[in-house]
Amino acid sequence: MQEPIRIELSLGVMFPSVNCYLVPGAPLTLVDCGVNTVENWTLLQQKIAEHGYKVSDIEQVLITHEHQDHIGLLPQIMEHSKAIIRAPKAIEGWFRRPEEMQAALYTFQEKLYSQVGFPKEMAENIKHWVAQMGTATRVKDLSRFEFFEEGEYIEMGHTQWEALNTPGHCPSQFVFLQAAEKRMFSSDMLLPIAPMPIVSEDPTQAGQTNRALKDLLVSFARLQTLNLQTIYPGHGPIFSDANAVIERQLARIEMRKMECLKWYQAGYTTVYAIHQKMYPYHQVPPNFSGLHMIIGYLDLLRAEGLIEKTIAQ
Ligand SMILES: [Zn+2]
Repeated sequence: MQEPIRIELSLGVMFPSVNCYLVPGAPLTLVDCGVNTVENWTLLQQKIAEHGYKVSDIEQVLITHEHQDHIGLLPQIMEHSKAIIRAPKAIEGWFRRPEEMQAALYTFQEKLYSQVGFPKEMAENIKHWVAQMGTATRVKDLSRFEFFEEGEYIEMGHTQWEALNTPGHCPSQFVFLQAAEKRMFSSDMLLPIAPMPIVSEDPTQAGQTNRALKDLLVSFARLQTLNLQTIYPGHGPIFSDANAVIERQLARIEMRKMECLKWYQAGYTTVYAIHQKMYPYHQVPPNFSGLHMIIGYLDLLRAEGLIEKTIAQ
């Protein structure tokens, strides 16, 4: 198989860019498809052309999860190609009822920000910032969608990739694995620099927050057994030696968790108060990932019996 081609599109917030991948061979596949902007649509067409293809040649689009920075350009790609769209079964609602799903997400996030003690103004800032990633993606032709689940194999580039559900970044996060070649499209589940466990509504308990960082640690442990050598992440450069990256991130999580405990014991008992201490440089724009990391550290500390209750309870 030819190497997947990394296509970097503009994101504009937090990470400078988001990746999609063009996988040559049959069926010609695009993994994820960036944020929906005019600039990105032009850029995607240009970059595909640089490799001798056209958008109309794309036969399949694989979606890793429902975040707008990964599904944004779907409507344009569907309009300009006959591609089949393969997406996780768990995110079907995001294509059938996008506005409703997005409204529910905003409601959940607002509740979460007030629960963790973030001032209203800061919560508004975060909301504004999240909205920059684009509004709900509306697709017209649902008959072109096929939904997959854990353990299914998907063909791209003349070879089979196993779809694995690896929650942590979000409950419905999927990655695509080729175990024999020790390589994986990791999406946002394993990123080259820092982890991004975003707290969301627990899919098994309506209205409850999930334990995103705990979930991510379980997914990391699952990956470590695979000894992966090539990772195609959702953001940042392609990298090798997944276990080294995971170990580095685990060590940092452990260190920051203990820092969090120190602040908690010193009387800083809301996420916002701890955030002020642990992310002093990131007040404007608000450090979105910092918020989620602190909730995660507190969840871990609670599970280990080191603190009595977490903010989300
Ligand atoms: Zn992303």
